[in-house]
Amino acid sequence: MKFKHLLLFTFTLLAMMTACNKTPQKYNSYYEYPEYTGNDLEYVYSPQQTTFKLWSPEAEQVNLHLYNQGLGGERLNTLNMEYVGEGVWEITIKEDLKGKFYTFQIMHEGQWLSESVGAYAKAVGVNAVRGAVIDFADTNPEGWENDIRPAQKNFTDIILYEVHVRDFSVSPNSGMKNKGKFLAFTEEGTKNSYGQATGIDHLKELGVTHVHLLPAFDYNSIDETTLEKNLYNWGYDPASFNAPEGSYSTNPYDPICRIKEFKQMVQSLHKNGMRVIMDVVYNHTSKWEEHPFTLTVPGYYYRQNADGSYSNASGCGNETASERAMVRRYIIESLKHWVNEYHVDGFRFDLMAIHDITTMNEIRKELDQIDPTLFIYGEGWTAADSPLPYEQRAVKQHVNRMPGIAVFSDDIRDGLRGGWADAKTPAFACGNQGYDETIKFGAVAATPHDSIHYGLVNYSHNPYAAQPSQVINYVSCHDDMCLNDKISYSAPYGSTPQEMRKYNRLAQSIILLSQGVPFIYAGEEIMRNKQGVHNTYQSPDSINQINWDFKHKEEPMFNYYKGLMALRNAHPAFRMPTTQMLQENLHFLYTGQACVVAYTIENNANGDSWNRILVVHNGNRHVINLNIPQDNWTVACNGEEVKLNGIFNWNKNTLPVPASSTMVLFRK
Ligand code: CA
Repeated sequence: MKFKHLLLFTFTLLAMMTACNKTPQKYNSYYEYPEYTGNDLEYVYSPQQTTFKLWSPEAEQVNLHLYNQGLGGERLNTLNMEYVGEGVWEITIKEDLKGKFYTFQIMHEGQWLSESVGAYAKAVGVNAVRGAVIDFADTNPEGWENDIRPAQKNFTDIILYEVHVRDFSVSPNSGMKNKGKFLAFTEEGTKNSYGQATGIDHLKELGVTHVHLLPAFDYNSIDETTLEKNLYNWGYDPASFNAPEGSYSTNPYDPICRIKEFKQMVQSLHKNGMRVIMDVVYNHTSKWEEHPFTLTVPGYYYRQNADGSYSNASGCGNETASERAMVRRYIIESLKHWVNEYHVDGFRFDLMAIHDITTMNEIRKELDQIDPTLFIYGEGWTAADSPLPYEQRAVKQHVNRMPGIAVFSDDIRDGLRGGWADAKTPAFACGNQGYDETIKFGAVAATPHDSIHYGLVNYSHNPYAAQPSQVINYVSCHDDMCLNDKISYSAPYGSTPQEMRKYNRLAQSIILLSQGVPFIYAGEEIMRNKQGVHNTYQSPDSINQINWDFKHKEEPMFNYYKGLMALRNAHPAFRMPTTQMLQENLHFLYTGQACVVAYTIENNANGDSWNRILVVHNGNRHVINLNIPQDNWTVACNGEEVKLNGIFNWNKNTLPVPASSTMVLFRK
């Protein structure tokens, strides 16, 4: 064949292939769907034109509808989108569409489905019924270009504070104006009825490094058109994953408002030295029949059982299918959007084990390219069984196959407070015997250590974490009873209120002094209670709100938490970044008695100014005398207060440790 003919032939072949590509077709399985690798889905706006793109490989036709309003009003126009290959439908409108709203509508098996905002919507109107055409440059608060992440060296330097946006400010004594809103996190100088700091000033005073927000992306359960009803929900029912929740903004009808106010919140927390974590719930959606996932690509985003029914590892009626290429890509693109557009500093994955290990590792890799200090952690379990094989699940037991990702330790949680399903049975913190190895397991953040008898740990009989940064130690979170309630309901008969405060301090001392990453639930530091309610996901404000006046009555408790955090923040020995360093420097003592855990941290570990540290946790409801290495010790914590310069000195080889208390001693 002559060169000219070869060229012609090649052109003809290419044209034929392109023509084939540009016809939507039916596929035998979701795995055959073409993957689209562009990052311009939904729309790309400029004042000259807007190009809309929707990925929907099996749609028979796709319409774009335009509106003046986010809800109601006449439709302005309906336009047919064109199939352009790789599963994508496209249309370009050469007008300035800023301020207009839109929906997509696909034809599936001969039927027009309901209109939706599309799976990738980043700006939405009220209740995310319609997408909004905006210029993201209009959403930046003043000074946004100078917003930077507070410094962070190691993940083990983090102290997490989990808080619901509404709980933080909604109480009448919060002193904050923007009650229940993102903007409450921008209010400085706020006070409770007794003139004590609340809100962001309180967090600074306390010493946490990261604020972990319960779902703050757009969710379904609160009707944004009836905010005057003051309804409450945790928000674990995702609607638009890429837009902030409207009920936390001052005007959910204005698509710019929720975005800008979310950014103002991040900016304020950063300015005050704290990073921001988002709780992300990619594992399922609110009602799948009506969700944009279903209305864009029916079936694809969800896992099915062998009989075609939707599987339900989330316990919420469906589960997503991260192992499918475009679901995995969706999650990654969504996370990158929150990092790049909103400057979010990390993510807590709800029911992370519904996702596959490959997806989680891919997420770590992609986020590393933006900033390796972004923190990723999650619940290493599912709520029910999944069609995803166990070997592929991002469960707690597999965290050593997910470097740079952490999991919650339910081992330490229940070893301290008792099982989550059993309100009445206490554990170590209330003096119940049998949990010493579990406390030790928590102290080394579930890493390998040769003086732990793993067979005696409550749940996990192997050290699942490869590095201490892979474990979140906690005793309470939004789920189940808060710590104060749990202690009230399970404490041994005859425990006095003062004794119950000791159990509380002991539990959180173990969390904040253990290696790994500590996590506390907002308000525990001022003895928050939830009136004994286990699952407050839709309980009223009266149960969920942080009552800031508790800070007055519980000032010693607040000071103790604050002291523990100051101790941890000032002393890197409590924050060792590697298992090797931990094994070299942390040594357990033989205590010879039940319900006692003691260890030393030697050799100015991790660059600490203290050469030697002794930590003793006494779960018993009576004083114990413990044999300790004789040294010129100074006591920095006696279970009642924490003083970094010392409370008293001790050089005997036995140490009396008060009932239900932690002691910390050091020698420089
Ligand atoms: Ca919403």
